[in-house]
Amino acid sequence: MKSLQDNCGVFGLYSDTECVHDIFQGIDFLQHRGQEYCGIATFHEGVHQVTHYGKVANTFRPGELGYLKGRWGIGHVSLRERQPVRWQSQLGEIAVAFSGNVSNADAVIEDMKGRGKAFYDSYNIEIISKIIMEERNVVAGICALSEKIKGAYSVVVLTPDGIYAARDIYGFRPLILGEGPGRHAVSSESRAIQNLEMELVRDVRPGEVVLVNDKGFQTMAELDSPRRAHCAFEWAYTASLDSIIDGVYVQEARNQLGGSLAQRDIEEGGLEADIVAAVPMSGIGHALGYHRESKISYQEVFLYNRYADRSYTQSSQLAREKMAKRKLSVLHYAVKGKRVVLCDDSIVRGTQILYKVRDLKTAGAKRVHVRVACPPLMYPCDFGISTRTYEELAARRYLKSGNITSIKQLRDLEARIAEEIEADSVKYNDLDSFVAAIGIPREQLCLKCWDGIDPTL
Ligand code: SF4
Repeated sequence: MKSLQDNCGVFGLYSDTECVHDIFQGIDFLQHRGQEYCGIATFHEGVHQVTHYGKVANTFRPGELGYLKGRWGIGHVSLRERQPVRWQSQLGEIAVAFSGNVSNADAVIEDMKGRGKAFYDSYNIEIISKIIMEERNVVAGICALSEKIKGAYSVVVLTPDGIYAARDIYGFRPLILGEGPGRHAVSSESRAIQNLEMELVRDVRPGEVVLVNDKGFQTMAELDSPRRAHCAFEWAYTASLDSIIDGVYVQEARNQLGGSLAQRDIEEGGLEADIVAAVPMSGIGHALGYHRESKISYQEVFLYNRYADRSYTQSSQLAREKMAKRKLSVLHYAVKGKRVVLCDDSIVRGTQILYKVRDLKTAGAKRVHVRVACPPLMYPCDFGISTRTYEELAARRYLKSGNITSIKQLRDLEARIAEEIEADSVKYNDLDSFVAAIGIPREQLCLKCWDGIDPTL
């Protein structure tokens, strides 16, 4: 589908009993954050570790789960790297997994090579792990990341003491703590905790290092956070609809984003349409919000092929496009002769939404009006959520530099995009409406995709 990608999810559990089956389920609930690789490491008289190419549910064999002994462990799903990685180091035997991106990887590697370090490859996890292992203890090692790494990360480190969990000082990536009888957990998303029948405790604070073990959660260090910069894409697209990210329900945020698009249509004279529909899956919350505000009936128009992979986590464009075609088929009966409002989270290149508009029109839709929850994407991401470039961004074909600064500019851009994707109309949320719908103060969000402002500078 889109050239967005979230490259990882992390999970950790400390339990009174064997932990592997809960960790297996935990990372299965995070599968939407990356589908190329998965892995689990547990601690029992040393680190036991198994990683796979492929999805959690299809790859782990019963014998492997039996091998992963211990009451505490960590798990990982990823688009790019096999994790967790097991290390023998001056800190003892540990395993490390992280979600994020080291945007200054080349510079860090050169610096470390100069100090005699060797790298198997330039994988981010090697950089993160080696920085941690250079220090006198795990907490000092995690704290050192904030000085040496540019980018975004949530990290879990498996040790004999338990699991150390930390979030970068801006809190780009989510990380949440949860507990249930005899269990303490940390997860990239709340859904893994909720679905394992534990209670949510709180988000890990930006810059905080937490030790998770049989004593519960202990804050081991708390670095100064210059500001929060939660990735706004989490609520619009990345996170699962049933998650709560930094205190905001993803479902609520998506409903508000869709509602805001409907409000705009109402204020601008109303839109004549028969049904509101979603591009599954991430468009569903937006479409339901649009439906509630506009009172236009909600109707599913695409049948989702649950056996196809989520396409944005495919690692090549060709793989993504092939997968996108396999993923959704049109429900002709639902769209024939209808005027459709089609809601999606964002437009990157515009090719996938073009296919969807064409599919609906081929199936007999009279009109297709596209409504987009995110404002036009104007900038690449430097923090590992997306690999897109300026050249790939549909909006940049029409606004070569700078930001959208007036309503007229937005209207002109919408008209050009509508033409390009063969829709009868296109409307985006503007940035103010987008931020208001998420419900987190603007100064606590990363909005660099839209305003070009790097929150770390
Ligand atoms: S640049 Fe965009 S995708 Fe990247 S962290 Fe910021 S808001 Fe998220």
